[in-house]
Amino acid sequence: MAGVDTRAFRRTSFGLKLVVQPDIERAFASQVIDRIRARDFVLEMGPLTVRLPHSFGQCHGVERAIQLAFETRERFPSARLFLTDEIVHNPAVNRRLQALGYQYLDGQYAGTLAVQDLGPDDVVLLPAFGVEAGLLEALRQRGVQIVDAVCGEVMLVWKRVREYARDGYTSVIHGAPRHQETRATVSRTRQDDPFMPHQIDAPGAWMVVRGLDDAAQVARFVRGLCSADELQRRFAGAVSPGFNAHHDLERIGIANQTTMLASETLAVQELLRRAYEERYGAEGAAARVRLADTVCSATQDRQDALVGLLGEPLDLLLVIGGYNSANTGHLLDLALSRGLAAFHVEGAECLESTQSLQHWDRAAGRIANARDWWPHKQPLDVGIAAGASTPDARIGELVVRLAELAGCPPAALH
Ligand code: SF4
Repeated sequence: MAGVDTRAFRRTSFGLKLVVQPDIERAFASQVIDRIRARDFVLEMGPLTVRLPHSFGQCHGVERAIQLAFETRERFPSARLFLTDEIVHNPAVNRRLQALGYQYLDGQYAGTLAVQDLGPDDVVLLPAFGVEAGLLEALRQRGVQIVDAVCGEVMLVWKRVREYARDGYTSVIHGAPRHQETRATVSRTRQDDPFMPHQIDAPGAWMVVRGLDDAAQVARFVRGLCSADELQRRFAGAVSPGFNAHHDLERIGIANQTTMLASETLAVQELLRRAYEERYGAEGAAARVRLADTVCSATQDRQDALVGLLGEPLDLLLVIGGYNSANTGHLLDLALSRGLAAFHVEGAECLESTQSLQHWDRAAGRIANARDWWPHKQPLDVGIAAGASTPDARIGELVVRLAELAGCPPAALH
């Protein structure tokens, strides 16, 4: 990292794992969930059976970020600690870090202080999904100590888009244009990024496609079936400044937000590749389209495990995770696409009664209330899937609440 003061930039553990581990377990572990894991992911409680997929909940990137957050508090006991935004997309985790003394510079937990209020005595932790290059540079200018909890899987995407920019390819990112990870990723096409390898001669162009409909529109443009103006209007706010469709879509490199639905990412790639092939022939397309599947292994594992669980005879599936967690939302999509009754909840408190459930309505993009959501049947089979930032403690609370609503005796949880 040429030009970066590495004393003020730390990516690795402070060697305090054993010191902080008991606190982390007290905050986020669950004996109920440990028991379900030990029983092959099934807990039979008489009138209710709860089933978990073989892969669920916190991923290695989230665990690392949380460990670094706790270690940083231990290493700098009297410093002011800051997060640029949520460390991961889970309210329970963010509230726990607030209790540890972290102040937030942006997002829903933001306090009153901003980057310009910080100085060399302050410590800033970067979240697992990364920050935009411009913000990182601003922090460096303030001379703060930076602790980098950005997940390695996210950095692999950054390296990929820098390669695309270096080689003159426009990065086409399958993701949500306003998601922090995607904003951070596209910022890596900048020319001057002292934190990244592959220094490049000119800033790279980029475009974000949200899903198959967006990709189909790009494919229509490539085939000459839609005008540049039409494309430009549709992608307002989702392309690099000065984007010129005729020039910038001549050669593309596809990558994706790490937490997308893997099957959709593959379909987006295939749709675009075929459009280039139709226009330029197989050889031309091979030279003009680069592909990289950057869905992270943890996201892929959780999606695959959920597909396995959906093969069981479930009456209902609850997906638990932050409402702004992309990978959690995609788990819900998977369940709904199989026609299963499924709801995205943030925690046990959402299960108000068997008559009333608070959940995230993905189609409407808001919190909604479902009436009569409880399947009145016995025995009842309920599956639980959990996003990659959901702590076991939150999943365990959900199991306990389900057992209460089903009328299971407390001893059934043991
Ligand atoms: S979901 Fe994937 S990219 Fe995100 S923190 Fe976890 S391992 Fe890293």
